[in-house]
Amino acid sequence: MANYQEIFKDKKDFEAQYRAACQSELGKTFDQCSELEQFQVLARLIASKGNAQLPVSHSKDEKKVYYFSLEFLIGPLLDNYLINYGIRDLVADAMKDMGSDLDAVCRQEVDPGLGNGGLGRLAACFLASMAHNGMAGYGNGMRYRYGLFHQDIEGGRQVERTDNWLANGFPWETRKDASAVTVRFNGHVVRHEDEKGNFWFTEEGGDLVRAVPYDVPVIGFEGKVVNKLRLWSAEPAEENFDLDAFNDGDYAKANKFRSDVEAISTILYPNDAGEHGRLLRLKQEYLFVSAGLQTILRSYEKDFGPDWANLGKRVSVHTNDTHPAMCGPELLRILVDEKGVDFDEAFEIVHETVSFTNHTVMPEALEKWPINTFRSLLPRLYMFIEEIDRRWRDGLSEKLGEDGSSWTDVLRNTAILWDGKVRMANLSIIFSHSVNGVSALHSDILKRETFKDFARLEPELFNNKTNGVTHRRFLREANPAYSKLITDAIGDGWLSDANELEKLVPFESDVDFLDSMDVARKENKERLAAYIKETSGTVLDTNMVFDVQVKRFHAYKRQLLSVFKILDLRNRILDDPNFDPQPTAFIFSGKAAQSYAFAKEVIRLINSLADVVNNDPRVNQKIQVAFVPNFAVSNAQYIYSAADISEQISLAGTEASGTSNMKLMMNGALTLGTLDGSNVEISELVGPENIKIFGMKTEEVEALQASGTYYAWDRYNADRDRLGRIVDQLVDGTLAGLSGNFESVHDHLMVENDPYLVMGDFHAYVQAWEELTKGYADRRAWNKAALHNTAKAGFFSSDRTIAEYEADIWHIDA
Ligand SMILES: *Cc1c(COP(=O)(O)O)cnc(C)c1O
Repeated sequence: MANYQEIFKDKKDFEAQYRAACQSELGKTFDQCSELEQFQVLARLIASKGNAQLPVSHSKDEKKVYYFSLEFLIGPLLDNYLINYGIRDLVADAMKDMGSDLDAVCRQEVDPGLGNGGLGRLAACFLASMAHNGMAGYGNGMRYRYGLFHQDIEGGRQVERTDNWLANGFPWETRKDASAVTVRFNGHVVRHEDEKGNFWFTEEGGDLVRAVPYDVPVIGFEGKVVNKLRLWSAEPAEENFDLDAFNDGDYAKANKFRSDVEAISTILYPNDAGEHGRLLRLKQEYLFVSAGLQTILRSYEKDFGPDWANLGKRVSVHTNDTHPAMCGPELLRILVDEKGVDFDEAFEIVHETVSFTNHTVMPEALEKWPINTFRSLLPRLYMFIEEIDRRWRDGLSEKLGEDGSSWTDVLRNTAILWDGKVRMANLSIIFSHSVNGVSALHSDILKRETFKDFARLEPELFNNKTNGVTHRRFLREANPAYSKLITDAIGDGWLSDANELEKLVPFESDVDFLDSMDVARKENKERLAAYIKETSGTVLDTNMVFDVQVKRFHAYKRQLLSVFKILDLRNRILDDPNFDPQPTAFIFSGKAAQSYAFAKEVIRLINSLADVVNNDPRVNQKIQVAFVPNFAVSNAQYIYSAADISEQISLAGTEASGTSNMKLMMNGALTLGTLDGSNVEISELVGPENIKIFGMKTEEVEALQASGTYYAWDRYNADRDRLGRIVDQLVDGTLAGLSGNFESVHDHLMVENDPYLVMGDFHAYVQAWEELTKGYADRRAWNKAALHNTAKAGFFSSDRTIAEYEADIWHIDA
């Protein structure tokens, strides 16, 4: 293992290497480099240090974990890696001497467009924690040419622009042509038989795609271990180039194949709005699964020969949601067809190797593919799925002997193939030795509802791994001011062991510490306010409470409930000039999927509300509203560290875990939330005096929905003065100034009968907000609660989560 302090001997050594790199890479002196070039050269220099450590980080006998995820929302890396190597101060110092500014150079780095939101960010936190925990844990994903989209706001509306995040290159990556592999689509299956009657199958013809990996080093804390994230790009295989067409002058035909293939890695799809069924998405899923597995088996065979029986003891393949679900059948296919392993034994090996994390209980989000599409794209793979499905059905009749449950119900709920579809969640479960949810409540709902038949048949399959986040990025890096206070108080051991944050508890009665928290928070608010002014034009009063709800826009997350509360406050301020809520700035950020019309209207609603509130001198001394465009890891770090209140108000039973709730509580924001996802665990850890919980609980929501008695117009009629008035204001011109009324939002509530019970939780929510914000007047008491949240945040470090995966799912002996 390299010693991180030897990355650069001293400032002089760093400066010499940096200047030399500018010369050799760009043919320029350091002084001739732009800030962007300074960033690029520095990033490549740090990447090269990581790459040099890669081969010595792990021995071949260590168990390897491959984390398959279609998304890795890694965020900017330079600041993070300098902190991890312990050289941030040295580099900042040296650059100052060289006449530059490290902070400004770090800001040149764009967010890689490799993920959507929570699921992708979780994968990135896991990479960081796997490296920190010292394990051989590698990411396997897609290298998208374009990210989801860059969000601009025009006339209050979300406008999607191409996210060309690779425009200036990606200095962290290294293209590995020598590791490229071939992936086949649209082939046909050929049956072979020898004279003894043995038979086997091969797949032939079709379109051959060359999958080329790009590796990004994952530099662990203190640089002890470096792992890698492997990202796949699709290119046409030479065999498929139509030279004849080209020579005949038919360039369009010759190039069509190229562009069809390159389309596979062109764009990241949204993960939350009816994108299922798109052929290109299915191709992406197979490409990164097949390519990843091929290289894994190649290096396994190099180290251990064809010792396939022990694969599952030396390798784990973890599938993040159902997007990599084909890992199971593809591994089976390779073992049987290409490595000559007997079918039954191969399935045992696959089962021991593969594990699965579920991320959602929303039925519409459970991935399904039409059988016809699937079978013609991947005919041989489909045969394996069909056979495993058949065996599952056969096995069911035995398993269902005793407990008297309906055989057909269980079959309908658990079969892989049903109703013309390949059901990816059932596929994942049947091929995996472990199925986990991402918070205690979520894992419970999986067993009780979503996968209840599986859970009854194979209870030992199911377990919980409550999500976590890397506190080194989301506290240390995002919040330097608060981190310094913490380190001055308890030393820096918390950076590698987040449980040490508990040592902050005694400081809850230290008034100097509590007062200095205000200074730090103010600094962060100023930083965020400057950013918001620059990006949206809104000028915030940093003396106000900063109340934030930042996350993807989705009906179940209920940004609409926040809007109702703010409109209610605005109405009451206008009605009664003596009504004095705690002055508060409401800060929103997040993207809506391009095709998700309702979510996009809620974004327009928030911007329209901001326009009305911020420009009305009767209310803007008491409340303000800001929308931060283009939510990403980079600006999230500014927002989390400046928040006083963390809004986590999804309808109970809908948010699998949430992770912004963890990032925010870690930074000392107080949660205003429902008992949903991991809010439940936050609440248990910090205690009722340090969190504000409101609203219906999961069982109450389930009972209300089952009773069929919720009726939006009843709610409207029961409170015309406040609730009914707000509903009317959606369409009566109150908010129409920027770009019109909100009929579809109105209809979502009053015609679709308010599917996420916004009106059902409204009164409890406003009351909870008022009670919580009243407490802000006593700032020391507030800071005491905030500090308690930070002190209890150790549990939510992804280091803890990964340690649990290691022990219970991947079976890695320390
Ligand atoms: C943490 C994070 C999320 C997830 O937020 P939730 O509130 O848990 O949905 C989404 N996007 C980014 C950029 C994040 O950092």
